[in-house]
Parts: sequence; C-alpha cells; structure tokens
Amino acid sequence: MRCPTCNSTTRVQRTYVITEYLRDIMHCCKNEKCGHIFVTQQEFIRSVVLPIAEPDSPVTA
Ligand SMILES: [Zn+2]
Repeated sequence: MRCPTCNSTTRVQRTYVITEYLRDIMHCCKNEKCGHIFVTQQEFIRSVVLPIAEPDSPVTA
C-alpha cells in the first residue's frame, strides 16, 4: 500500500479483526518527513474458484 499523502511505501503497523471476514489494517508511512498513519480495510468479497469439498472433510457421492 502506498501512502495517499506522499506516495511513499508504507508498512503495516497493526491489524484489527472486525469480523471473521473483515479487518482494519493500520499503515505507517516510511517517509520520515511525512509520518502519515492511516487505516485501510481488507474484506472477503467473493469466491473465484470454490473448492470441490471442504478441506479435511470426506467426499460424499
Ligand atoms: Zn507519506
């Protein structure tokens, strides 16, 4: 994730679990002159390929 203020690279400072499929991610700008700290969200949207069966569960015919 790039800093929206100065476009420098950032590092993840902390992650907060909001729900099972939603997290707030706190980023810290690596540019010392900027120092921007901001939050993004990571959320499950949709599946692209579904597994044929649940992992570790027996396949039923
Ligand atoms: Zn910045």
